[in-house]
Amino acid sequence: MHRLRLLFMVCLLLMQPQAIAQGAPSSAKAHKKVLLLMGTRFELVAVSENEHLANKAIEVGVNEIKRIEALISEWQPTSQTSAINRAAGSMPVSVDPELYQLIERSIKVSKLTDGAFDISFAAAYKLWKFDGTMTKMPSPEEVAASVKHIGYQRIKLNPANYSVFLDDPEMKIGFGAIGKGYAANRARDVMRKMGIKAGVVNAAGDMITWGKQPDGQPWFVGIADPAEKDKVFSWLTASETAIVTSGDYEKYAEVDGKRYGHIIDPRTGYPATGLKSVTIICPDAELADALTTATYVLGPEDGLYFINQLKGVECLLITDKDEMLASDNLSLHFYQNRKSPEKENKTGSPKP
Ligand code: ADP
Ligand code: MG
Repeated sequence: MHRLRLLFMVCLLLMQPQAIAQGAPSSAKAHKKVLLLMGTRFELVAVSENEHLANKAIEVGVNEIKRIEALISEWQPTSQTSAINRAAGSMPVSVDPELYQLIERSIKVSKLTDGAFDISFAAAYKLWKFDGTMTKMPSPEEVAASVKHIGYQRIKLNPANYSVFLDDPEMKIGFGAIGKGYAANRARDVMRKMGIKAGVVNAAGDMITWGKQPDGQPWFVGIADPAEKDKVFSWLTASETAIVTSGDYEKYAEVDGKRYGHIIDPRTGYPATGLKSVTIICPDAELADALTTATYVLGPEDGLYFINQLKGVECLLITDKDEMLASDNLSLHFYQNRKSPEKENKTGSPKP
């Protein structure tokens, strides 16, 4: 275990990876589109010599994300997830194999994390307002009662007809902690299928990269200085990698001067504490997304121990005491300050 106590205030608060597309000496260029999808700022980058193909592929990627949102969103009343939630406690609902399999994979992560990740978190979540409007804590009784309606074991799946049944009328499921990662994977897949050999899909810090930049370098993912968002204080390199961050910096409740992030500990019903930010690095954005949430719930000690057991998965954590923790195989040079690509490569111009 590497333990670094950071010396500089600028490094302490939070991390937000951002893909930096650099200028291209070859004829291939990085084409980019930024837009709001799934309530989040999505950025799609396609590297190609053919501008028309790149733009077309980005459009197909965007449509894929919209399609997934319409299928899985717990907020859209017409989605299949909403149909499952409405039928909670009364009857099973047959859904698309795609949604069924997403639920199956979610339950697998729940089992792997002993319930730290649980798509049925909603009963506790609704007692909190993570938009800055909360003024008083819910009562301990309310919180304790809400936990009774959380439990991935009570999501009953029937593979014969792809049906899903929530075995409690107060239960609900939601994909806030895995959906963006799934959508990023799928957008990458459809763009790649169209012949885009390199690119980035970045959903506000849930990012997947493939291939290399037009100049042959890997993608540089800047870890932003939270105090000055436009300033990058360290870099990761990535080419077939997802880099996903969860933190308490965007959605949180503040009561009596204490900050509560929007990740619920399903065991207690209270927002998880101990970490400010979790970054997971592994090849799969969906898994990385789910694991950021699980690690956040597990907290610094158990979270780091857990990630160290998983092959091919690395993490970088910032505790609520501003300590940075890295998993065993995330080598130091990964996150030590390095010269920015701008300085190393005169053609580059990072735009965090
Ligand atoms: P972000 O949205 O900042 O990337 P996450 O990926 O961790 O962060 O997702 C947080 C969202 O996941 C919450 O807003 C909520 O919708 C949902 N959620 C909260 N707690 C849990 C949990 N323990 N397991 C699964 N989903 C959760
Ligand atoms: Mg997540």
